[in-house]
Amino acid sequence: MIRKYLLLVSALVLMLTNMHAQQIIAHRGYWKTDGSAQNSIASLMKADAIGIFGSEVDVWLSSDDVPMINHDAEVTLNGKKLSVQDTPFATLRKVTLANGEILPTMEEYLDAFARCKNVKLIIEFKVHNSKEKENLLAEKVIGMVRQRGLQEKVEYISFGAHFVQQVKSMNPQAPVYYLNGDLSPQVLATMGLSGFDYHFNVLYKRPEWVRKAHELGQKVNVWTLNKPEDIRKMIDLKVDFITTDEPLLVKEILQKK
Ligand code: MG
Repeated sequence: MIRKYLLLVSALVLMLTNMHAQQIIAHRGYWKTDGSAQNSIASLMKADAIGIFGSEVDVWLSSDDVPMINHDAEVTLNGKKLSVQDTPFATLRKVTLANGEILPTMEEYLDAFARCKNVKLIIEFKVHNSKEKENLLAEKVIGMVRQRGLQEKVEYISFGAHFVQQVKSMNPQAPVYYLNGDLSPQVLATMGLSGFDYHFNVLYKRPEWVRKAHELGQKVNVWTLNKPEDIRKMIDLKVDFITTDEPLLVKEILQKK
């Protein structure tokens, strides 16, 4: 009888522990693997293939208003640096990624994403020189996502306080997270956001923000966790999502916990 009871209790404890299990997001896709590159379509498909929660990607607007996938504010073409937001689509298309792919458009990326079976897509809106460009980019990307019926599978993030509020007002149903690390969960609640997605150093300084966010019904994401020690500490803090360049390492650590 006692044995049965103990078994039941340990099963319950296991269940409750699993309820806090962290979800993994591949930072700029799963790119640290053969044939992949940061923010490539291959990195998205490879993230989908390893059974994790999400794949993150960065988006800019070209000078002629085409949403393009890239992390940095600049691309390198024939040894020259070009600012993405000041360069037209036709020129940006001459840029190739480390795996040989042509710099993808948001449309191409979403078409590939529509074929994914597992991952959600976490779209980061990069901060631009003008609010008009930011509004146009958000409008275009949200429209492309709707056109493909992918709303349930997409979440949005940005360092721009203006940007996250704009996205939330255009698309109130969508999960939207703020990246810049400077606003408390209470402030994010007044902005109607889903929570924060902060660098782990912010949480080392303000670990109480995780509990506060959860009390307010928010979710917590943390970036970019690549070292076992940081990963373990953030798991212990009970963050909800871990954004990483090492998704398989995080998976392994979570399985051992
Ligand atoms: Mg990003």
